[in-house]
Amino acid sequence: MKKYLKPIPRRKFLKTGITGGAIIATLPVWKLFSFSAPPSDFHVNPAVNLSKETLEKLIKIALQHGGEFAEVYVEYSVGNQIFLEENKIYGAGRGVDMGVGIRVLHGEKTGYAYSDDLSFEKLKQTAEVASHIAAEKEVKEPVGLKSSKIPSYYLVKVSPDSIVPQDKAKLLWKANSIGREYDKKINQVNVSFSDTNKKIIIANSDGIWVEDVQTLSRFLVSINVIKGDKRSRGYAYKDGTLGYEHYDLKVAEEIAKDACRMAIAMLPAESAPAGEYPIVMAKGHCGTFFHEAIGHSLESDGIRKKTSCFWDKKGKEIASKISSLADDGTVLGARGSINVDDEGTPSQNTILIDKGKCVDFLNDRLNAKLMKAKLTGNGRRESYQHYPLPRMTNTYLLAGEDDPEDILKSVKKGIYVARIGGGNVNWVTGRFVFSVPEGYLIEDGKITKPLKGIQLMGSGPEVLKNIVMVGPDLEILGGGTCGKDGQGKPVSDGNPTLKVSKITIGGAKV
Ligand SMILES: [Zn+2]
Repeated sequence: MKKYLKPIPRRKFLKTGITGGAIIATLPVWKLFSFSAPPSDFHVNPAVNLSKETLEKLIKIALQHGGEFAEVYVEYSVGNQIFLEENKIYGAGRGVDMGVGIRVLHGEKTGYAYSDDLSFEKLKQTAEVASHIAAEKEVKEPVGLKSSKIPSYYLVKVSPDSIVPQDKAKLLWKANSIGREYDKKINQVNVSFSDTNKKIIIANSDGIWVEDVQTLSRFLVSINVIKGDKRSRGYAYKDGTLGYEHYDLKVAEEIAKDACRMAIAMLPAESAPAGEYPIVMAKGHCGTFFHEAIGHSLESDGIRKKTSCFWDKKGKEIASKISSLADDGTVLGARGSINVDDEGTPSQNTILIDKGKCVDFLNDRLNAKLMKAKLTGNGRRESYQHYPLPRMTNTYLLAGEDDPEDILKSVKKGIYVARIGGGNVNWVTGRFVFSVPEGYLIEDGKITKPLKGIQLMGSGPEVLKNIVMVGPDLEILGGGTCGKDGQGKPVSDGNPTLKVSKITIGGAKV
């Protein structure tokens, strides 16, 4: 099959194609794979088997005007979704994308071009476009490509892409019936299963040649309850770099029950009080806070450009002594885990804050080079159409030693944040506003009434100093798609039970 991807002279291709039918002859080679019925398992697709020699040629062309560094990124991805709404399978879809991105670095400048046509002629033009970022007389000779072996942090035995939609639909129906039976007040159950399966090849002028197959799957249940003038929502999901063997009817039932529990618990919620209160964050469900309010400000592009509130804080105390923060792309099966980043750097665990002290930043290749820092495996891109940026993987607050029960008992009046929701963060100042889709009042060390309309307000650097208790029960759960400069990327996060001594709550009641 590999022969399809070698450059075939057009005349010869037409001749070969016509014997198979006129339609084939009118399509560029790669489209035969992406638009005709795809194989049931994308692993067998030969489309991205561009040979090493071809990639070496492209790197050479990309360096022809004296660029310092050149890289070719090849991607083939298949995405599947199936939804259930209003007691019926509402839709199912499958999308295939494929292309090559070529990047040339020269000083602070990046030349980037991409093509979704994999003919050698088009790829050559793409490399030429990227090469023009440099205009030097001296041309660098690239190092010959050598494949590197990488460990695997994914938990995938059965590719979700090999499962027919009818089978995935059984999970959706199970969750739907659990939701409908759970409580008569439930009047909306939405369920979905989605997976993306991506094969990438990265080759560069330093001689790196690495391949990775990245699988992401997600099963999501969302419940709505309307009773009189009260309404509430619950949701739960399972996701990660997980194969289909991690999903079955029992999992569907557990996820559905968790979503129902939340929706019913929040139905009688009263308006949250406004003012300054201590808060307790529940283990596992509040990591988004650390990702959004802290992690983004430790990405090296903002550090280099001095637009981050932490740009001059390396080696300095930025948090309480019991707070340590990591970004770790090697957590088995987590949504943000990667074997290599999208520049071919092996994934790693980077401690960013160590016992209160800022010790490191998250680097991609360009910023590492300009700041003379080491690579941390955080150069990530959404697809072949995008160049890499420093991005997080799985970001979490490390475990501490305080008993979670003692943490709760220590609060006379405060807010228990069971889950943190969406937010708004200014990465320059670190100021944030987060919603809390599930939160409760704490009275005399006990969780009491559910509260609605809780908004956490403050600044990331301020909260870091006010973390006064941290439990040992770290959990890294779920996650989402992080957006930065128009690029979405899967991430996860986590936290142990913890207490922040004071935070401003924007609520309805004063
Ligand atoms: Zn983010």
